Amino acid sequence: MHCLLRQHSIVFLVLVLGGIAMHVSDPDVPSSLDALRLEGNLSFHDVSLAAKDFGNRFRFLPSAVLHPVSVSDIAAVIKHVFQMGPSSKLTVAARGHGHSLQGQAQADGGVVIHMESLRGGGTRVHAGERPYVDASGGELWINVLLECLKHGLAPKSWTDYLHLTIGGTLSNAGISGQAFRHGPQISNVHQLQIVTGKGELLTCSTEENAALFHAALGGLGQFGVITRARIALEPAPEMVKWIRVLYSDFSSFTEDQEMLISARETFDYIEGFVIINRTGLLNNWRSSFNPQDPVQASRFDSDGRILFCLEMTKNFNRDEADVMHQRVEALLSRLRYIPSTLFQSEVTYLEFLDRVHVSEVKLRSKGLWEVPHPWLNLLIPGTRIKDFAEEVFGKILTDSNNGPILLYPLRKSKWDNRTSAVIPDEEVFYLVAFLSSASSSSDHDGLERALKQNDKILDFCKKAGIQMKQYLPHYTTQEEWKAHFGDRWELFAHRKGIYDPLSILAPGQGIFRKVVRSS
Ligand code: FAD
Repeated sequence: MHCLLRQHSIVFLVLVLGGIAMHVSDPDVPSSLDALRLEGNLSFHDVSLAAKDFGNRFRFLPSAVLHPVSVSDIAAVIKHVFQMGPSSKLTVAARGHGHSLQGQAQADGGVVIHMESLRGGGTRVHAGERPYVDASGGELWINVLLECLKHGLAPKSWTDYLHLTIGGTLSNAGISGQAFRHGPQISNVHQLQIVTGKGELLTCSTEENAALFHAALGGLGQFGVITRARIALEPAPEMVKWIRVLYSDFSSFTEDQEMLISARETFDYIEGFVIINRTGLLNNWRSSFNPQDPVQASRFDSDGRILFCLEMTKNFNRDEADVMHQRVEALLSRLRYIPSTLFQSEVTYLEFLDRVHVSEVKLRSKGLWEVPHPWLNLLIPGTRIKDFAEEVFGKILTDSNNGPILLYPLRKSKWDNRTSAVIPDEEVFYLVAFLSSASSSSDHDGLERALKQNDKILDFCKKAGIQMKQYLPHYTTQEEWKAHFGDRWELFAHRKGIYDPLSILAPGQGIFRKVVRSS
């Protein structure tokens, strides 16, 4: 072990685009952690993966990676770091599937918990009148879905991409085209098991330890590590009717979207995206739509116009196909899309939900998945979406070739305002997601261009007084975080003081800094 210590006290140089982050490893870290009795193990060498994420722009090497086998491994490590007190610089980050964009699941010189190793308890489906599933916080949603489908059940609320962990999406919100009906994923959780920043293991729900339950949902990993979650289920449909239609008029597009999300009889999933001078492959990464019937600029002469694509699905079982078709016809007859642009497909529920993975496989094979992703996700109040669109589409952005631009409405009343998630203060607000990619790891110009565009969009919102909120927020100063949380900051900070008083957890979010005092 002593030679390990010496090896470990070398200086790591970590190249980060736009600068160099230097991390000097603390030689006492391995010895103090190595004394812990764990069922899993701590790795002090093989740590570089924990310094990477989907954003591919921020890299901070940890001192150690914990591969927990049980919840008590996680509790033991956090308790140990807590007991070291403020004289230690050590922090701890749970890493789900590492699909953060700006180092949120990293811990510079700290301990990263590889949550996917935690399998204790397995995934247990409980059928019955109010079905639910209990699963590990490190489990991928795709695996939860596969297990639930064996029982004819499925979670109600989703993200567009399922290769993300339960703990990772519940720490943000978990939004997709079902959220207008069921709320985000954080509105569909009955219970959590959490290890706090003091190393205590607590079960929480709206009835038990309710403050911790609400704090952790949308809590950006600040209050504890989610080790298990109990998630609401519903009967899974066999099939999905998947429809895309195009609009050239933004007002008709959003008015139809808003009509659909408030109608009693409506679709099961509603999203939308913006197409500006579209060419090339990158924009197809989400187009796992039936290849015989895709929305492709080549098939439809857009005449240089900006187009808006409304995407909807209707769930059905094979023996109810006729009824479903009638309902879909009735709904479509109420919409004002360009008549020649109705694209339809029928796929299994699993194929639909796992659609982005198909694109991932394609992009990986072309080396286009592990590139920098300067994404920007905004929640825009419904009353300002037109002002936003007029300035951003066509003026700030002259094409959408660097990646998809999603745009769809959500309803505030489906969100639980006791959670930590922050949204605009209007019943209807829009998710607008600029999902840009650089064309390669060395495409610094492309990255810079996308980042500048993001800044311009943010600047415009500020100048125009649009009270937007960032989703998957990223800020560098506590002042900005305070502005993000607004009048909820005090409660957020108060809860932090209770559940993670030394600010050990999720340092990569950059909200609180561990105060280190020399002993
Ligand atoms: P990580 O990136 O590993 O972690 C995220 C944060 O949560 C970190 O701060 C981490 O410390 C913390 N954390 C992780 N696990 C736990 C835990 N068990 N307990 C406490 N804290 C924890 N989001 C949507 O809402 N809707 C979408 O449709 C959507 N689509 C996406 C598509 C792609 C291709 C990608 C890359 C991301 C998408 N996201 C979407 C964003 C995604 O929800 C977040 O990036 C999420 O954090 C990723 O989960 P993860 O498991 O990779 O978490």
